[in-house]
Amino acid sequence: MDERILGIDLGTSNSLVGVVDSGFPILFADADGARLTPSAVFYPEGGGEPLVGAAALRMRVLQPGRTVVSAKRHMGERGALAECERASGPEQVSAAILTRLKEVGERAMGENLDKAVITVPAYFNDAQRSATRRAGEMAGLEVVRILSEPTAAALAYGLDKLDERSKVAVYDLGGGTFDVSVLELNDGLFQVLATDGDTRLGGDDLDSALAAKLAEMADVGGLEATSPELVARFLEAARSAKEALSDACSVPVLLPFIDGEKGFETELTREEFEALARPVIDRTRVHCRRALAAAGVTADELDAVVLVGGSTRVPLVRETVAEVFGQVPDTSANPDEAVALGAVIQAGVMSGAIRDIVLLDVTPLSLGVETFGGLMNVVIPRNTTIPVARGELFTNAVAGQRTMKISVLQGEREMARDNWSLGEFEIDFVPGAKGSARVGVQFSLDADGILSVLARDTATGSDRVLEIRDAAIDVDDERVGQMVAESVEHAFEDMNERLWTGAKQKSEELLPAVAQALELAGDVLEDADERQIGAAVAAVQAALEGGDHGELKRANAALDQATEQLAALLVERALEG
Ligand code: ADP
Ligand code: MG
Repeated sequence: MDERILGIDLGTSNSLVGVVDSGFPILFADADGARLTPSAVFYPEGGGEPLVGAAALRMRVLQPGRTVVSAKRHMGERGALAECERASGPEQVSAAILTRLKEVGERAMGENLDKAVITVPAYFNDAQRSATRRAGEMAGLEVVRILSEPTAAALAYGLDKLDERSKVAVYDLGGGTFDVSVLELNDGLFQVLATDGDTRLGGDDLDSALAAKLAEMADVGGLEATSPELVARFLEAARSAKEALSDACSVPVLLPFIDGEKGFETELTREEFEALARPVIDRTRVHCRRALAAAGVTADELDAVVLVGGSTRVPLVRETVAEVFGQVPDTSANPDEAVALGAVIQAGVMSGAIRDIVLLDVTPLSLGVETFGGLMNVVIPRNTTIPVARGELFTNAVAGQRTMKISVLQGEREMARDNWSLGEFEIDFVPGAKGSARVGVQFSLDADGILSVLARDTATGSDRVLEIRDAAIDVDDERVGQMVAESVEHAFEDMNERLWTGAKQKSEELLPAVAQALELAGDVLEDADERQIGAAVAAVQAALEGGDHGELKRANAALDQATEQLAALLVERALEG
């Protein structure tokens, strides 16, 4: 019997765990019969055992400051979660949740289970994937695979049974993140063609909007003005009203004792809720269109659209999806369990309990290195299928240089500084003339999305390797989703800056070379020629001040031309000498 591997959906709002048993994927229920474990951890005063799940959520209403929720939003960030001093970071909070899930599984199976497949949003970068892996290790789990959520969902929906080359979209609106991915079935394998989304968009936004509305109706002077305890109660009331409105057309809302004695009571209709929800839900449209465009697929080429995430139970979400993709979405799988089910299936494949399904994932953002002039040089473009290894050869920009700094970047912007630094290191090489060194840089991304960067001086064969899994990266989670949007927004500026940088580099090479040539051979030049060169030099200097790349390029070309004769003279002299 092969060793069992747990499949885990470590969600922002809810987490689930399961395993393949006798060839069937199953999800475990906890002692209360619940399959969904809220991703919440309560840290009691005085340092007792943390409470995980529904119990922690109940404590949140009483002591919001000691309960951590949505820790996943901060995955990969350094530093503590401000809300609670004992939860030292998102990894520790996630580890507490994973410890609980492991226990649920072990109790159900009556055996030790210490391997797991854990899912992450498609947008998670290397640091966030590594942080998830470390959280698993802290919980005593060997993480055998980090799997993207839409890929897992596709498995759960059984999309592998569609016809060859079928294309599907996976729309995942959960509590805290939104992902949309376009997949294609090739030779029985899933391939993610493109993925897009927003790491700060989900059911939580619907709750906040509704809670603010309820607070306004209850006349408590705005949600911000109330105590944290009351905010938590309004949010809780909003969430349960929202969920009830997915089935009912109107629901009662009851909040007793909101200011000591007075209570609040109202009836909320689906129309009222939809008016608040529409702007939030509409924000998913642009991501759907972008994913389709990036995949090079039109909506009518899609063979299926599937819904994932608890928030896709909202009827307005389903209508919006139908509108955007021009077809009624498939809701045959349980939307809040689809990702977990896919993780379980993948775990089953890896343990040998299920055979014959292979997954291919893609890079959510481009990976590259900084080159001379501060430009981003892409080594592995966005949406490349992984695993992948790609290399490039670099040379020294300055004569006599002994080391080269390899700065590893992730992002879509033209200028290195606008992308995220994943880490950097130096490689030594044999000093020589400008352009004489040969440093090969190879990026390899494994199936978990963990990047290793190898740099090699081809002359000596000396190597340096950087593993990005523990990269000191300090980027705001929100920027992950914004990166692509920004690259589109700044496309023109970025391009102009790249052209400017190139032209400036050329001037910086040209000016000292001309000065040196004049010193060596200026004496034999005709006065008119010398004046012409002087004017061309002045024009380049003026253009350098000006900032227009076209002008600078033309000035460079004019200087090049004006010095043609001078260059010929120098060559002649060199031959004579
Ligand atoms: P995540 O993947 O972010 O952990 P889930 O897929 O579990 O999230 O979805 C959680 C979200 O789904 C929450 O915002 C929750 O309120 C919402 N949700 C769950 N059931 C319903 C429902 N019946 N109607 C509307 N929203 C729901
Ligand atoms: Mg989810």
